[in-house]
Amino acid sequence: MEHFDVAIVGYGPTGATLAHLLGQCGLKTLVLEKETAAYHLPRAVHFDAEIMRVFQWIGIAKEMEPKTALHPGMRFVDGSGKLLLDWPRPQGEGPQGWRANYRFHQPDLEKLLRDQLAGRSDVTVRTRCDVFNVEDKGDLVELRFEDMSRGKVERVTAKYVVGCDGARSLIRRYIESDMEDYGFHERWLVVDVILNQDKPALGNHSIQYCVPERPATYVRCPGLRRRWEITVLPDEDSNEISKPERVWELLSGWLTPEEAVLERTAVYVFHSLVAERWRKGRLLLAGDACHQTPPFMGQGMCAGIRDVSNLYWKLALACQDKVIGQSTEALLDTYESERKPNAAEYIRTAVRLGGLINAAGTEEALRAALPGADGTARMESIAPPLGQGIGYGDKAGRLFGQPRLADGRLMDEVHPHQFVVVADDELASGLDLPDGVALVTTSQSNAGTHLARLEAKATVLRPDRHTLGAADTKDELAALLERVLPNPITLNEPEMV
Ligand SMILES: Cc1cc2nc3c(=O)[nH]c(=O)nc-3n(C[C@H](O)[C@H](O)[C@H](O)COP(=O)(O)OP(=O)(O)OC[C@H]3O[C@@H](n4cnc5c(N)ncnc54)[C@H](O)[C@@H]3O)c2cc1C
Repeated sequence: MEHFDVAIVGYGPTGATLAHLLGQCGLKTLVLEKETAAYHLPRAVHFDAEIMRVFQWIGIAKEMEPKTALHPGMRFVDGSGKLLLDWPRPQGEGPQGWRANYRFHQPDLEKLLRDQLAGRSDVTVRTRCDVFNVEDKGDLVELRFEDMSRGKVERVTAKYVVGCDGARSLIRRYIESDMEDYGFHERWLVVDVILNQDKPALGNHSIQYCVPERPATYVRCPGLRRRWEITVLPDEDSNEISKPERVWELLSGWLTPEEAVLERTAVYVFHSLVAERWRKGRLLLAGDACHQTPPFMGQGMCAGIRDVSNLYWKLALACQDKVIGQSTEALLDTYESERKPNAAEYIRTAVRLGGLINAAGTEEALRAALPGADGTARMESIAPPLGQGIGYGDKAGRLFGQPRLADGRLMDEVHPHQFVVVADDELASGLDLPDGVALVTTSQSNAGTHLARLEAKATVLRPDRHTLGAADTKDELAALLERVLPNPITLNEPEMV
């Protein structure tokens, strides 16, 4: 029976990104996907800088960037089109080394992820393979799946199985996890159109139509693609509202059938759910398999990519037996303890935003819901830290920026998957670095700006670029470094904080 380090069930964006990351770490990885091709219905249109940075690691950012559209921000308007709230987004290169937000077409991303994976020798991808049984045997997991192209049942084993198998996850059932419910369950009609020619009047902003009778969202996608998400009222039939004649009626305030073709329409029930357990023994969950969010923040897929960025290096450590016994267990437990509160915070914010779009039809209502310091309504991006896990002190678990080195290159290009010390010159001088741990100083780069944001003189970054902790003295930095073994992807005795 063929044996793998990691078997990934599901080849959506979460599974594909994890396969890239594990492949880069040299892990023998299998991806099993029951469908032949990527999912065809309308889904994600937005990702942020943190996600583009992960795409940078796996070598697809440069090719993805030209397929994206600029995103000037989000506007909230009332039924008459009056602006209730403007939420501009920063433009240009931000702290992550990328723009704050990108508009994209999910099938473009999935194609790129899949095309590039073909070049990774450590990763085997098998489509039309439906996993129907997994058994954790203690020292490994046995998976059974049907290869539908050959009508044959096969078995493989793996040290770990990651269920990236979407909202109806089979692996979640094996983990026997319930879902925590954040209370949002609504039907929305999602319509993707392709304009016959540009219609500048539609604008480049995302627009939230705060119309209590029929809340809706408009999104400017790349090229001539445009997206509307429109509430389905309780007495409306999902099939009826998806029919082209009804869709055009609903779009009539923006567009006529002569101006565009309907690319795809679907009614989704948007949920707000987080799995109670993300891991049981050698089975783990990532992506929609362990959390589902209403799409108002454009963060569902982003959360899945954050999951695998947190998980890949921990799995790499576990598979390389760099951390053994209890310590491996503790390390893998930090995946859920770190990621779950972060994912939940994004979902709670999306639910709040959904409530606003549904109910706040006036400026006063928005002001009451989003009070800014100057008395106006104010909306801000969130960047919650990780939950408790591997880290030391109150500055652990923060996403750190990506310094640009003096030669113009970004830090992660030069030090991929490594622990990195980022320090001011004084703390860096005479530093005894463990083998394989990289150093970026303030005189070699613009790291000073990033350290100032953390309010520290030095930090040690994990491979996922979250802080292990912060230091203001040489002794504090030495203590942080003691936690890192002399190996580019090895942690010593992870400690819970
Ligand atoms: C209308 C809409 C708008 C959205 N907008 C955004 C947005 O702007 N930004 C954003 O970040 N997110 C957005 N999302 C969410 C985003 O699309 C999802 O979070 C993302 O696609 C989930 O990726 P995944 O890889 O975790 O799961 P999926 O893409 O669902 O992939 C799971 C895969 O597992 C396979 N599978 C399942 N069971 C098995 C099995 N037993 N054996 C083998 N294979 C199996 C499935 O066939 C599927 O290919 C939106 C979603 C919707 C519906």
